[in-house]
Amino acid sequence: MTDQNKVALVTGGSRGIGAAIAKRLAKENITVALTYNRSQDQAEQVVNDIQAAGGQAVAIQADANSAERVIESVGEVVNQFGKIDILVNNAGVFGMKPIQQSTLADYDAMMNVNVRAVFAAVSEAVKSMPTGGRIITIGSVNADTFPFPGMAVYGTSKAAVQALTKGWARDLGEQGITVNTIQPGPIDTDMNPADGDFGPTMSSLTALKRYGQANEIADVVQFLASEQASYITGAAIDVDGGMRI
Ligand code: NDP
Repeated sequence: MTDQNKVALVTGGSRGIGAAIAKRLAKENITVALTYNRSQDQAEQVVNDIQAAGGQAVAIQADANSAERVIESVGEVVNQFGKIDILVNNAGVFGMKPIQQSTLADYDAMMNVNVRAVFAAVSEAVKSMPTGGRIITIGSVNADTFPFPGMAVYGTSKAAVQALTKGWARDLGEQGITVNTIQPGPIDTDMNPADGDFGPTMSSLTALKRYGQANEIADVVQFLASEQASYITGAAIDVDGGMRI
């Protein structure tokens, strides 16, 4: 089953979960635009890998700290490919600081990338998103689970995208556009390496007693993006190895 003429924009597609999502969607013959901020070489490598496998992809530099640049990048994709059928809001930053050490600047930095940029991308993409469109945001189990101190602001950013998802599902339902969030547990990436300080504890918190791999998130994105998921909207889907049982 392939989606021959579909176009996807994956934010933060240069590394980790976003890179896996870009490659997974391209496997379905979906044309993929991916954004990056700092990792140009890795973004180009993802594009090369997709093209080598017979797919179509482009990389666009767009710092999610700038909502204006995010909006521009959405416009560039629409200009180049005519539309965006699937928007995957994946770019995100993580940081841990308890309130005793947190500053307003820390708060703004997290919310700008994890929430404001998502709002910017969605508000621009829906102007031309066709019926059958898909908006998928990578949230986190930390939207409402706080296993360690210092996670309040990150968790708040992920709770915000869960709330936006539910609200937007109502806003866009009559246009036949579905809006969902995937809430991963610990996934082995640069952001949260399985062999990092928190690795053993995070693994032990899951029922499966292990980290997830980026492709285990990408497969769920692909499903939500597909025709088979046409009646799922407003959902927050945990993909967390049973962390929250
Ligand atoms: P990584 O740190 O491995 O990768 C982050 C990606 O986001 C990179 O492609 C990076 O691009 C991009 N990015 C970061 N900042 C910006 C920015 N300012 N502008 C544009 N792109 C940016 O993270 P993961 O792959 O682990 O995380 C992806 C998403 O999944 C995030 O939203 C994260 O919160 C979420 N998540 C991750 C979990 C995990 O355990 N790994 C668990 C739950 C949720 P570049 O390098 O080019 O700057």
